Amino acid sequence: MALRIAVGGFLHETNTFVDRPTGWDDFVTAGPWPTATVGEGILTAFRGINLAIAQFMNAAERAGHRMVPLAWAGAMPGGKVTDDAFERMAGLMVDGLRRTPVDAVFLELHGAMVTASFDDGEGELLRRVRHVVGPEVPILVSLDLHANVSAQMVEIADFISSYRTYPHVDWGASGERCATWLDRVLAWKPRPARALRQAPFLVPVTTGCTYLEPAKGLYETLGRIEAETGVHLSLNMGFPPADIHDVGPSVTAYGGDQARVDQATDRVFEALLAAEPAFAAHRPLPVEEAVQEALRIARSATRPVVLADTQDNPGAGAPSNTTGLVAELLRQKAQRAVVGVFHDPAAAGQAHALGVGGTLASLGGHGEGPGQEPLPGPWRVAALSDGTFRGTSPMLRAAVANLGPTALLAQDGVEVLVASIRQQPIHKETFTHIGVPLESRAIVAVKSSAHFRSGFQDIAERVIICLAPGVNREDPASFTFRNLRPGVRLRPRTA
Ligand SMILES: [Zn+2]
Repeated sequence: MALRIAVGGFLHETNTFVDRPTGWDDFVTAGPWPTATVGEGILTAFRGINLAIAQFMNAAERAGHRMVPLAWAGAMPGGKVTDDAFERMAGLMVDGLRRTPVDAVFLELHGAMVTASFDDGEGELLRRVRHVVGPEVPILVSLDLHANVSAQMVEIADFISSYRTYPHVDWGASGERCATWLDRVLAWKPRPARALRQAPFLVPVTTGCTYLEPAKGLYETLGRIEAETGVHLSLNMGFPPADIHDVGPSVTAYGGDQARVDQATDRVFEALLAAEPAFAAHRPLPVEEAVQEALRIARSATRPVVLADTQDNPGAGAPSNTTGLVAELLRQKAQRAVVGVFHDPAAAGQAHALGVGGTLASLGGHGEGPGQEPLPGPWRVAALSDGTFRGTSPMLRAAVANLGPTALLAQDGVEVLVASIRQQPIHKETFTHIGVPLESRAIVAVKSSAHFRSGFQDIAERVIICLAPGVNREDPASFTFRNLRPGVRLRPRTA
């Protein structure tokens, strides 16, 4: 049966420990994905991009359904979403649904959005959507693997499918899963059975990477249990820097029969609980030690050592402009080292005004907080670009990325890629588009926690997670939580 399906999206991962709020302009300033899009534009703007809405629409249209486009917007992670931005998006969706009656709703959400007024941003959005469409219309939702899932979200949505990979190479596939499970969701009468289990511990963001254990094995287990039981399962790692009741890992499930759903959920949840010591076993290196180790490995390596400056990862809301790792590379006299993406629109603009060969007296040091000491020059302008390129990493493949006016600055053996639009390096083209041949570099340092692996793991001799000063502290126990539900350990316990 052909259905009219409303489609939209609203994505934000909120770091409540970041002061700068995320406003409407941040949703309009598209970096790694298209800008805020309303109505008919949704039908064309996302085609071919590895986003949930794109692959949901593809699969649903193949099944003969008709799309009713609402609104879609995503901003880079950062501080709480302003009431203005939230009300604008929620209003666009609610208005769209009031105008056109639909048979089902699909929403691409993140699951870790906190707004100025609502700790459970997605729960509030879903509450309003449910209010318009009534109790009968199924609401299907894709979520990020880092969602902090609430009981409200699970209760209102009739189906949730979260990414199963970090880096999020199955971002689009989560939307496709919503489309392929739609017939089953409609058959689960009167409403789908559902379950939510929240873990009693937080896991550092870097340890949830699915290239590594225990996350890799946990998602394999999830797939096996889903295939055996016919219950749709999601395992979310949570997003720790969020001082809210529902922060942390969780398992969600939807199916036709409550007992089966509970049983399948418990099996995945037990596997998650058993993995706690394996999460605790991850040990990132302090910056001085990390650079020493990178230099030691690089002496005999034929490929670059990749250093992940996780505590300044803009993908978790950090400013992407701390200087600790660059300073340490200079101090230890690293050669053939390149660092990116350093967010400094003023320096990028100055470099463009000076031209290649010009010099800047200093770099960075404009912000407040940890890791904001300026880097004295001279910084030579080695290359310039307009910052646009088509990325080839499987995550967000084919999306046109826009770094804004971009410059490569060099001092001694260290180059820094300075951009005007804040984002994390997911694609090799972040560096190659401006003429940095990565294979010839001894050290590639990225301001990222895990997404960089989808573009860089295959050229890395070794990946080292390093701890330089930054707001996105790797250890969740270093944050002061006031709103977290009782009994949750702030870091995983060793055996
Ligand atoms: Zn994520």
